[in-house]
Amino acid sequence: MWIELDGWMAKLRFSACHLIPGHPKCGRLHGHTYAVSVKIYGERTDEFIIDFELLKEMVAEICDPLDHHIIVAKNDSRLRITESDDSIIVDIGEKNYHFPIDDVVLIPTDSTSAESLCEYVASELASRMGSNISKIEVRIDEGIGQGAGYDLNIEDI
Ligand SMILES: [Zn+2]
Repeated sequence: MWIELDGWMAKLRFSACHLIPGHPKCGRLHGHTYAVSVKIYGERTDEFIIDFELLKEMVAEICDPLDHHIIVAKNDSRLRITESDDSIIVDIGEKNYHFPIDDVVLIPTDSTSAESLCEYVASELASRMGSNISKIEVRIDEGIGQGAGYDLNIEDI
């Protein structure tokens, strides 16, 4: 049994700025509006597998901090990240970005691709799920018409 939230329809969206190091087009700083869709598999404990409202709150709790921020993958070996009190410097080869610290969110991934963001959201959701949940599917669209998906079996973690 499963329940599903469509990120566009349920307004589970955020806008953020990122880059993909070395990519001919995406290597330049740019932004997207992302929509986060989730499908949760499990057994009912009462009427629900999980209450829609609770699930929406969980997704918002994970994604709201990213909204209108520059997202940087903390574990990307192509980046050299230097943090100070009020700024973050991201060196990518000959490119050096100097951001105000409040504008940046470091996420514990090796990329900020839609694929990596799916893994991040799925793992954050997994840590919030009850024992009746067996599988989480996350789809993240970068704008309308293109997206990535990731399936996380809870039994495997
Ligand atoms: Zn992009």
